Amino acid sequence: MLTVRDLAEKLSVSPIDVIKELMANGIMANINQQIDYDTASIVAGELGFETVEEKLLVVEDVQAAGTTTMWQRICENERPENMKPRPPVVTVMGHVDHGKTSLLDAIRQTDVAAGEVGGITQRIGAYQVEIQGKKITFLDTPGHEAFTAMRARGAQATDLAILVVAADDGVMPQTREAIDHARAAKVPIIVAMNKMDRIGANPDHVKQQLADLGLQCDDWGGDVICVPLSAKRKQGIDELLENILLVAEVNNLRANPDCPAVGTVIEGQLDKSRGPMATILVQNGTLRVGDAVIVGRVSGRIRAMLNDKGKTVKEAPPSAPVKILGLSDVPKAGDILEVVADEQVARSIVSRRTADAREASVQKPSRPVSLDDVFAQIQAGKVRELNLILKADVQGSIEPIQNSVERLGEENIKVKFIHVGTGNVNESDVALAVASGAIVLGFTVDADSAARRMADTEGVDIRFYNIIYKLVEDVDKALKGMLEPKFEDVVMGHAQVRAVFRIPRKGTVAGSQVSDGKIARGATVRVLRGGTKVFEGKATSLKRFQEDVMEVNTGFECGVGLDGFNDFEEGDVLEFYKRERVS
Ligand code: GDP
Repeated sequence: MLTVRDLAEKLSVSPIDVIKELMANGIMANINQQIDYDTASIVAGELGFETVEEKLLVVEDVQAAGTTTMWQRICENERPENMKPRPPVVTVMGHVDHGKTSLLDAIRQTDVAAGEVGGITQRIGAYQVEIQGKKITFLDTPGHEAFTAMRARGAQATDLAILVVAADDGVMPQTREAIDHARAAKVPIIVAMNKMDRIGANPDHVKQQLADLGLQCDDWGGDVICVPLSAKRKQGIDELLENILLVAEVNNLRANPDCPAVGTVIEGQLDKSRGPMATILVQNGTLRVGDAVIVGRVSGRIRAMLNDKGKTVKEAPPSAPVKILGLSDVPKAGDILEVVADEQVARSIVSRRTADAREASVQKPSRPVSLDDVFAQIQAGKVRELNLILKADVQGSIEPIQNSVERLGEENIKVKFIHVGTGNVNESDVALAVASGAIVLGFTVDADSAARRMADTEGVDIRFYNIIYKLVEDVDKALKGMLEPKFEDVVMGHAQVRAVFRIPRKGTVAGSQVSDGKIARGATVRVLRGGTKVFEGKATSLKRFQEDVMEVNTGFECGVGLDGFNDFEEGDVLEFYKRERVS
């Protein structure tokens, strides 16, 4: 949709001409009226222009689709005959010190030893190795934290997770977290049983622990591949790589190499001499030097590309990581890159996104649900599965809670615990909640301060309980729509009206003095006269002298304008308050 005026401006004609053409087509429209694409196209045609409808970008389509990942959407949108096999993209996860970094290094070196021309791999955030003539891409930032942080930003690059477990140490808290994070993302897992060279290695014990978590290793009758290895002695690396290829083949990973590229930023950096740079994982199409791109809210034209061996390349096919030069600014990890027709299109999309983002930043983030509005979301058909993350003080509390809550699900909504664990709610729990639209329940635990901060900015609902039945009851009420959010009016401050000014065309402004607390633009205001309320509405303008201000403190004078109210009287009291949710 666009207005008659906008269309006239785009065509560089007088709005009168547009209105005339519309009339000739039987449409009576004024200059501010919105017309749709088809109508605009007819009018433009009559005036000698050809219109092309701006196609919905792949990225925006993916984001609109919500729950499906980018790879999935790409596959849905491409014709099957254009899809060719592509290398798998692998992330290494596991508990600290179990050997993630050593494994990534060992894999990298295996490849160099195999005589790969170009020598040592450059650290660009991802690298590729070749085995049996097939490539595998490894993301070089190990750990489920980085993986979920990307997902929380709406990106998913990984096809497969390698779970590193030290054979002499077994399943540890971050092993459990890693399993749950990979599962929440529906990414298959291969177990790398590391440190097999250690005397204390006890792989059977570890397999038992994994089986208890629902990961049945293949030699135990399950379907999870488990490769014993030693990252330190570089033993078992080839077997691991072969198994990665196997799982990749089973999962039939494909992309269309013959279209404009789409990819994800793995890392961004500012180089002193070369300017903004970013490592991109190409996910569909082929990225080429000279392509005009948008990357999140940054635009540019690719001046040069470097591969993970530090060599300049002209093009990058699906699953290839490349470092690109030529962006106007440094993008963030997780931003999506997309090739567009030309730089002008790139700039116009970026400016629209920036404007949209400004608007969105005042609204509440929409993805993570809060327990209060679960019912509304169920009714709107937006959620069919209520994802929960449970943190409790001891293992003993987890099972009874899980059992009673899981029983609550009804036919149209399932309750699912995507992660449970002991200890305080941490940042990784909150990131998982953002990435999976989950609610965090804490049972006789607290939240780390970093986790609280993140929950605040991301709009994640963390609920604390110390009685099991209260927790179960709340989830039950939420499912049945009985858990009303509670709000409370919190008075911020008062101002006395000292003088009333009528300003032509702008309405009436109350010249006031703040008598207590502070007052703020955007807050709701009750106008009290002799103790009774005569009006209630938003403070749309707040000025000190001629300056617009956000807030005014006790003792200061200011001018207040209210939306829809002009009948101030001297002596009125303005009570400023905000509505706050009571937790
Ligand atoms: P990360 O925290 O998971 O990245 O673990 P690191 O790769 O930093 O490894 C932690 C420690 O374990 C280091 O001292 C490594 O040398 C050691 N390590 C890693 N893999 C092996 C292995 O296969 N065998 C032995 N004996 N030590 C290993």
